[in-house]
Amino acid sequence: MGHAATTSAADREVVVALDVGGSGMKCALVRRDGTVTHTEHHLTGAARGPAAVIDTILDVAEALADTARREGLAPVALGLAVPGVIDEAQGVAIWSANIGFRDVPLRKLAAARLGMPAALGHDVRVGGLAEARLGAGRSARHVLFVAIGTGIAAAHVIDGLAAAGAHGAAGELGHVLVRPGGPRCGCGRDGCLEAVASASAVARRYAELASTAPDAPEASAAEVATRAAAGDPLAQQVWTDAVEALADGLATGQALFDVEAVVLGGGLARAGAQLLDPLRAALHDRMTFHREPRLVPAALGAEAGCLGAALLALDDLEKP
Ligand SMILES: [Zn+2]
Repeated sequence: MGHAATTSAADREVVVALDVGGSGMKCALVRRDGTVTHTEHHLTGAARGPAAVIDTILDVAEALADTARREGLAPVALGLAVPGVIDEAQGVAIWSANIGFRDVPLRKLAAARLGMPAALGHDVRVGGLAEARLGAGRSARHVLFVAIGTGIAAAHVIDGLAAAGAHGAAGELGHVLVRPGGPRCGCGRDGCLEAVASASAVARRYAELASTAPDAPEASAAEVATRAAAGDPLAQQVWTDAVEALADGLATGQALFDVEAVVLGGGLARAGAQLLDPLRAALHDRMTFHREPRLVPAALGAEAGCLGAALLALDDLEKP
């Protein structure tokens, strides 16, 4: 029996998945079993304004569907992940600071352009969905995924479903107040978790304390981690402050959600044991009657958003 005869129609089905960020879009074709068959990367070009970004998203998605057909695959749905406040039920990007979206009915626009069902999700929530089902949290039923990058956001996933909240804004762990009177947060309040412990906050605080020459390039969070490991006391102080603040934030998360596993993703989590070991100890110290969650690094890397967007689209296809 030839290969073609043994390949069922379902094996040829793929989801077109786009994970749209402030600077770049990660794109993939994803099979029903989560296998990625093709990836692409495009610039978001957010400076061109939201209308141009929408055009680019639709053009790229359509081209990916064509690519799938040329490769003998059958694109059955589109999954889109974007940052900001997302109404997943209505498929509307309500607000996104770094892309400039305001009430954009992305799901409707995409479904009309591609002629197939589309799903719209929040970037961190779909990333958490993928990590909980296919990645570091796959053995746990209750998972908190925490992405620590430019900002900090979380996704609470129970039995493979991420809670979006009543207004599409659940999981804003980065705006939990951990240091009253502390550094000013992008949201306008002082002392939010992400103002102390995001990758950008770590870099900014080190630059302030080190008060290097004004024209000296700012050390990235990864460089601060390297300098802390090498014994630089200022870097160690900034790193320890970030770890302590993260432990406060995660302890609050555990008090609210009582999860089995906390999966850490985003740029800062790439520090590996240098972040996880002290954070695990600091979180342990904060547990009183709460059960301590397993603290594990994300397993899917940069593809988590695309995989999650694809899962969301597949879930929608299964709905009656
Ligand atoms: Zn804030």
